[in-house]
Amino acid sequence: MPSRPWPLRSGAFSFPGKTGEKTIGRTSDEEAEVEPMAEHTEGKLRADIGVFGGSGFYELLGEDAVEVWVDTPYGPPSDVITVGEFEGKRVAFLPRHGRGHQYPPHRIPYRANLWAMRELGVKTVFAPCAAGSLQPHVKPADFVVCDQFVDRTRSRPATFYDGPVTVHVSLADPYCPRLRRLLVAEARRLGITVHDGGTVVVIEGPRFSTRAESKWFSQAGWEFISMTQYPEVVLARELNMCYANVALITDYDVGLADDPSVPPVTHEAVLEVFKANNERVVSLLAAAIRKVDDDPDCGCRKAVSIPGAKWAGGLRSLEG
Ligand SMILES: [Zn+2]
Repeated sequence: MPSRPWPLRSGAFSFPGKTGEKTIGRTSDEEAEVEPMAEHTEGKLRADIGVFGGSGFYELLGEDAVEVWVDTPYGPPSDVITVGEFEGKRVAFLPRHGRGHQYPPHRIPYRANLWAMRELGVKTVFAPCAAGSLQPHVKPADFVVCDQFVDRTRSRPATFYDGPVTVHVSLADPYCPRLRRLLVAEARRLGITVHDGGTVVVIEGPRFSTRAESKWFSQAGWEFISMTQYPEVVLARELNMCYANVALITDYDVGLADDPSVPPVTHEAVLEVFKANNERVVSLLAAAIRKVDDDPDCGCRKAVSIPGAKWAGGLRSLEG
């Protein structure tokens, strides 16, 4: 765990009533009503930009950073969220697997994670991940800013609209074009080899692919493989957030068909490449955060427009 340069509160979390901080959502020791929208979140607990990343990112924040526990109608998020200021921007960091990497990809509480970000006020989400290449020209240590996904998962709650309200959100272009452009431009400026666009196929995991599956994905022309992009990107869209992914390529999934010397991926190899390149991921995200502006007119921000009705599903979950 990284050292924290800022003082911790009493306990690790800012529970209302114990620290005098504002209530966000439901707490463990009182039956509070879940407040439906986040525009009310203020001060030290407010964030405009969310990043699904932990290790290496906390150091970007100033001394006023705080750790916030946000409970949600979908249960707890993966971990405490670290909220603070980076060069004038309010930013929230949440490691999607938890700090102890305790959530495997298929068990990540995606809905709670996105809901918690929204409660803090986040409207812009950057979602870095590690990923395996499916194409020879997409090489380990390259970055990809994808523009499409293919869903091959099967067990994940993937919507906030479980009824009675039904919403069919448009996902033709799932990633925010503004954030994508920014990430690609900043990566190039930093000298990072970046692929502008690409399709990620999201598998259920936690196992890796068979050779047959990987061949199928490659032949379909898809660029890389991940276990976490779905349903994260969908849930962001349902909450009218701008969302973009940047993938660090760590391996060639099952190896390369015409080069037997390239072995299939192992978990250890992924961690090794990720560790060696995490600093570049953090630098890119820092550069993007520095330059990003909110745009209320961005299409992502208007994806769903049934105010008042959209939270019914979540509140029902809370009761059930
Ligand atoms: Zn957008």
